[in-house]
Amino acid sequence: MDFRLTPEQEKRRQEYHAVCSELALKAPHPILGEKGIFGTEHGWKYFRYCAKEFAKRGWLSLSWPAEYGGRGDRMDQVLLAEAMGYNGVPGIDPFGVGMLAPTLLAVGSEELKKEFLPPIARSDVMWCELWSEPNAGSDLAALTATAIRKGDEYVINGQKTWNTNAHNADWGFGIFKSDPEGKKHRNLSFLLMDMKTPGITVRPLYYMNGGHILNEVYFDDAHVPARNLVGKEHGGWAVVNVLAGFERSNMGAVAGMRRALEEIVHYCNETIVNGQLRSRDPIIRNRLAQLACEIEAMSTLGYRIADQQNRDEMGLMDASAMKVFSTELEERFAALAVDIFGPSGQITEGRWAPMGGHWINALQESFVGTISAGTNEIQRNIIAWYGLGLPRMK
Ligand SMILES: Cc1cc2nc3c(=O)[nH]c(=O)nc-3n(C[C@H](O)[C@H](O)[C@H](O)COP(=O)(O)OP(=O)(O)OC[C@H]3O[C@@H](n4cnc5c(N)ncnc54)[C@H](O)[C@@H]3O)c2cc1C
Repeated sequence: MDFRLTPEQEKRRQEYHAVCSELALKAPHPILGEKGIFGTEHGWKYFRYCAKEFAKRGWLSLSWPAEYGGRGDRMDQVLLAEAMGYNGVPGIDPFGVGMLAPTLLAVGSEELKKEFLPPIARSDVMWCELWSEPNAGSDLAALTATAIRKGDEYVINGQKTWNTNAHNADWGFGIFKSDPEGKKHRNLSFLLMDMKTPGITVRPLYYMNGGHILNEVYFDDAHVPARNLVGKEHGGWAVVNVLAGFERSNMGAVAGMRRALEEIVHYCNETIVNGQLRSRDPIIRNRLAQLACEIEAMSTLGYRIADQQNRDEMGLMDASAMKVFSTELEERFAALAVDIFGPSGQITEGRWAPMGGHWINALQESFVGTISAGTNEIQRNIIAWYGLGLPRMK
């Protein structure tokens, strides 16, 4: 692919940065990663504010085909994500905008697209993902929650878990066993549901550091209209595979890292420890340079995926490679930052906490990225099977 931007793309890139840097000035302090956005009232209010600002400009539907109000270019989505990451601005619902919308565009019926895409583009409806269960994560197809068809409805019973932001979400998309007698992978249906449906209960699951991002969701005879079925009845596994590709491609993460690297380099150039600037320590210099190279590699991977998605050619392996590389880079980055700060790097707040305690929180949260959206071990299996053609282990 050609990595150069066209003059029009460059102009739009500057516009995305200008708007995001304005929005950054309105950010409440402190916002600490996902924990601050999804887990605090002020963080979530700010998220919704930014989302509406993007919606007003048509930026939540940038990559959609023109007939649905988009520009039809995934590169714009990457450029916006870069501007958001660089300026630390939230506002893209990862589930509605990032996953469900492209999935509906790929495999949804015309009726579903007409009903569900416009509220996503206007940021009127926030979504959550209802897939994992206490005994079905990596082996998702082993799930047991049921959706049994009764006339023009499905009646749902069972439990989901690890549901990010379900406590703030208006709607959820989920996968359920619709044919209890059917063969594995051919007995599941993919459904959309209003989270206020009677019979749906959301309960919080707290992180060890107190963050409220995750939830459990219980279904007790929840009735969902059959017209909310995506794809074929009992054919939900195919929809899961399409959506998982969008979930794992994580294209915007790199810009946040670029900005963070600049800030850490600045810190090292200003801070003296034992009579020496941190930036003169050969080990720190070496690790920072290595990190800078890896961030560039990840950026290239992100552009490549956008290009593949534009041509509808994204392979399972590419999204998995991005997922593994970006989440493990996030871990390495947070560990390096905390190492650079030394013992004070463990202070979470107050005047002695370097960079407002951001990095110790980032380190604590960095591990979850290697588990969510399918663990990195599973992604490595996908790369081995579909990318490298290696045999499956018995
Ligand atoms: C922060 C976070 C957010 C999440 N958000 C959501 C959400 O919004 N919605 C949702 O539905 N789910 C969500 N999840 C759940 C996530 O998808 C699951 O945690 C993940 O798929 C792993 O499933 P599990 O936890 O059951 O682990 P298990 O599947 O029990 O795996 C346990 C360990 O065994 C390894 N393992 C399992 N099978 C294999 C194999 N075949 N080969 C090699 N290793 C294997 C795994 O890699 C892992 O290390 C979230 C998880 C986290 C951590």
